[in-house]
Amino acid sequence: MTKESPKAIIIGGGPAGLMAAEAIADRAPGAAIHVYDAMPSFGRKLLMAGRGGLNLTHSEAFDAFLARYGEAADWLAPALRAFGPKEVIAWAEGLGQETFVGSSGRIFPKSFKASPLLRAWLRRLDGKGVTLHVRHRWTGWDEQDALTFDTPEGEVRIAADATVLALGGASWPRLGSRGDWIGLLAARGVDLRPFRPANCGFETEWSTHMRERFAGMPVKSVALTFGERRIEGEFVVTASGVEGGAVYALSRFLRDEIERAGETTLYLDLTPDRPRERLVRDLSRPHHKASLANHLRKAAGISGVKAALLRECAVKEAFSSPETLADAIKALPLRLANPTSMESAISVAGGITQNALDGDMMLKALPGTFCAGEMLDWEAPTGGYLLTACLATGLRAGIGASRRVAALIAVSQADPTGP
Ligand SMILES: Cc1cc2nc3c(=O)[nH]c(=O)nc-3n(C[C@H](O)[C@H](O)[C@H](O)COP(=O)(O)OP(=O)(O)OC[C@H]3O[C@@H](n4cnc5c(N)ncnc54)[C@H](O)[C@@H]3O)c2cc1C
Repeated sequence: MTKESPKAIIIGGGPAGLMAAEAIADRAPGAAIHVYDAMPSFGRKLLMAGRGGLNLTHSEAFDAFLARYGEAADWLAPALRAFGPKEVIAWAEGLGQETFVGSSGRIFPKSFKASPLLRAWLRRLDGKGVTLHVRHRWTGWDEQDALTFDTPEGEVRIAADATVLALGGASWPRLGSRGDWIGLLAARGVDLRPFRPANCGFETEWSTHMRERFAGMPVKSVALTFGERRIEGEFVVTASGVEGGAVYALSRFLRDEIERAGETTLYLDLTPDRPRERLVRDLSRPHHKASLANHLRKAAGISGVKAALLRECAVKEAFSSPETLADAIKALPLRLANPTSMESAISVAGGITQNALDGDMMLKALPGTFCAGEMLDWEAPTGGYLLTACLATGLRAGIGASRRVAALIAVSQADPTGP
């Protein structure tokens, strides 16, 4: 009778899970490696990231790069030192995707797409003997601790020698990651923090005029200030509030303050390139019979959505003198009530805590089960930090799992008749 090869099961076919599968294939030849995903195809969120050009990683100095992970930086440091920006670039180029550094230091594939990279990766995994299964939604364990899956053919049970969970967070659930694994792991005593939206928009109470006339409009060349932090860039007015790059960059701090105080205020600088003194001078120019709208447009370059924001957010007294108007333009208060829903956030904070895992990303409560990617409790801004950490933790969890299966392979080779 032929003995079965030790089996490594990876659940979740996003960047973290695929990286874990490849790490095992490279390090434990002879293992049976299977990746399962709930969706009809792999890597749907990665493909969605490709719609925005696929920001793979960032070119800033490593210490600055690491600091973007905030309080999780120390925890993630070993994984990111082993697989950081340089390795991400080499990995993408190994899959035929040349990269370049954009003006903001962000790194993208020259194709600005995820699909060629994902196709090449899935082909390479197939070549390494990794078996991919779609339409298998993991539902937990049976009485014998075999993994259970819902499939179109009914329930399937699979016993694993090592398991990697790479199930993603809880944003954009239509792409596959619903965060519904939280209950399964909580029931097994795994230490978890509730999910919260990250890189998200915020709600505010727009007037009907603002909502109906300006929802969907980008606000370009602005600076947003929150406490000591100032971000230059752009954002978008939505029907219920604001979203977009500059808002996402501050979203962690805004969200935390709203959780603490119930609401918060963000300050907009509508003319970041024009110092206040110059603005006062420009606004003091005689404007004879010109309407205020025309004067603002001609003297300060403020029109369209910026002018609407000024009218919406400034107090009436702000329009009484060039000085008060300049103050409002340079620090326009925008009250924010809530982060937008988790479903529309780019990523999430919360999930499996550092405390729940050993240094190999193995669950202390479930030996043999490793975890990676966005399901872990870290957060980072946009800029390529998310994908880099998903790949890095996927590699680390995969290496941990490969050690387990490689040890079993060594035992079975030493005693081919053994159990
Ligand atoms: C619109 C958008 C744009 C983005 N752009 C960028 C970007 O440019 N740069 C960047 O760094 N990051 C970006 N991100 C974030 C990045 O895509 C994610 O952080 C990353 O995909 C997470 O990888 P993951 O492998 O942990 O999880 P996921 O990619 O979410 O993969 C998890 C997989 O697990 C599967 N799964 C979940 N539950 C089950 C279950 N019970 N059974 C079986 N399978 C299951 C899912 O179907 C999914 O395929 C973007 C995200 C969004 C939403």
